[in-house]
Amino acid sequence: MSIIVQKFGGTSVASAEKIRNAARRAVAAHQNGHQVVVVVSARGKKTDELIGLAAEITERPSPREMDVLLSTGEQETIALMSMAIHALGEKAISLTGPQIGIVTDEASTKARIRQIDTSRLHSYLEAGNIVVAAGFQGMDQHGNITTLGRGGSDTTATALAAVLSASLCEIYTDVEGVFTTDPRIVPDARQVPKISYDEMLELASLGAGVMHSRSIEFAKKYRVPLRVRPSFNDGAGTLIAMEPEDPAPVVTGVALVKDELRVSLRGVPDRPGVMSLIFTKMAARKIPLDLVVQDIADSGIAEISFTVPRADFADALTAAGEAVEELGEGTVHHGTQLAKVSIVGSGMQTHSGVAAQLFQTIADAGINVLMISTGDIKISALIEADHAIDAVKAIHKSFALDQVKNITPPLGSTLPGAATEAIQVDEKRERQVVLQLANMEDIVVSDVIVDTNQARVTILNLADEPGIAAGLFTLVARGGVMIDMIVQNVSQQGRTNITFTVPRGDLQKCLELVRGAIDLSDGVTLNWDEEIAKVSVAGIGLRSHTGVGQKMFHALAENDINILLVGTSEMRMTAVIRRDQAEKAEKALTAMFLNAVATT
Ligand code: ASP
Ligand code: MG
Repeated sequence: MSIIVQKFGGTSVASAEKIRNAARRAVAAHQNGHQVVVVVSARGKKTDELIGLAAEITERPSPREMDVLLSTGEQETIALMSMAIHALGEKAISLTGPQIGIVTDEASTKARIRQIDTSRLHSYLEAGNIVVAAGFQGMDQHGNITTLGRGGSDTTATALAAVLSASLCEIYTDVEGVFTTDPRIVPDARQVPKISYDEMLELASLGAGVMHSRSIEFAKKYRVPLRVRPSFNDGAGTLIAMEPEDPAPVVTGVALVKDELRVSLRGVPDRPGVMSLIFTKMAARKIPLDLVVQDIADSGIAEISFTVPRADFADALTAAGEAVEELGEGTVHHGTQLAKVSIVGSGMQTHSGVAAQLFQTIADAGINVLMISTGDIKISALIEADHAIDAVKAIHKSFALDQVKNITPPLGSTLPGAATEAIQVDEKRERQVVLQLANMEDIVVSDVIVDTNQARVTILNLADEPGIAAGLFTLVARGGVMIDMIVQNVSQQGRTNITFTVPRGDLQKCLELVRGAIDLSDGVTLNWDEEIAKVSVAGIGLRSHTGVGQKMFHALAENDINILLVGTSEMRMTAVIRRDQAEKAEKALTAMFLNAVATT
């Protein structure tokens, strides 16, 4: 008999009537022959209310007592839900997190799940019960109640689905499903029927609100199909699974973070260990970095910039200050009122011209791109926050995301299978790593990938105005050259540098195209390097786990390897280094991340 997990969020259980509706869905699934586990959140705004109450009592509530308090929200719902199922004539039993046997670490208010004992769940299910489980909570090894962080019920649901090998985990919510972008920004945003774990992870991590990236990580690790569905009608919602839609859309969605902050370290030495130091400082404060950009160094001096969420800004500045002090060189700068717009899509791996079209669209809207960073299936641009909404609208329109088959970039061409190889992680090894995890939420790094077939091209001192990146990448795409990593750091005195990598075999052609696209006078210079290698670690949820970058850059620094460029995504952390150090880097990263994994 197959097991289905159904999760109902706060708005879907806000009133008695809504609880009854949810109960009807659970009963229907049970009557269709499934074993059913229902996971519920606290009703409506309950959690916020409880947090408010605590704040009225004290400014500094003890985290342990916070967890005791907040867990009552979900406990209320499980009892009511169970009663509602009884009233429909079915057997049901409510269980709190500790009663289920969800064991977490001791990090009150942001605990991570270690293990889940399924014996109790199975015996109740086999006795014909619908099990109603409290989301968002567990118990540490000393028996204290813990909670998993805001929005944690999704995590509970996917984790239970994983350990029970459920055939499906349904997430009932107050939206129709996953959309190409936020429909409040773009009214004709389209609901997508299917999306891959990787696309959803990137979108969630880059600002899309539908689901917490942590639960998608779980789903991917344990290959749990997720369906995000509306609770207010019978819509089919969106399936989140291993494969993207077929054919894979070039662009699946546009994500926006309206309130990003930039931290830059200027004038830092260009030598091994610098990136490691920065990532270590940030990881110590659990600050996830995004849009990490390191400029190609000029006369031994590098500039490193990254963006952080607002909540982490003060901490990030302190950490950056410490780093500069330890280096004995450099200054810390920052930028505010910035927004990050990103496009995500599996199909961009096999299409050229996507970046060109993105930058052209942003330029046509009169918007300047301040920073650029790319991953296998995403491109992010930092712009001024005032232009954020206009940018999202223009990008959505330009890629025709409101239509079922979105447009392939007019400039581009399809490269059958070309770049897809690069991203193909070893599935078998990933399974092994997951099965060997000591704790369910431990980081999964399953591959070290070395690419020695790229060359770097940098254009220095470009005038920083709308359309620069667009013009450049349009011509290169037209020439049929597939660009891989693109990096642009913030401008200084109105000048900016753009760096990208291309297949080494295309370098000469690319240089010609660049010379045709850019006026190489007035201080604008072109340089390139054929002797580079791209090393990456691949896994699941790498950016959100702050420790991965730290470990990776530490391993490289210890081996005296200098980092030329950096790229981060949920699937990969990438560093461009000197080619003659590629072997050493591969060894170091393998030792750091993979040696524990028995390779059969
Ligand atoms: N009730 C918790 C919250 O509001 C957990 C959840 O809803 O997922 O954050
Ligand atoms: Mg909630």
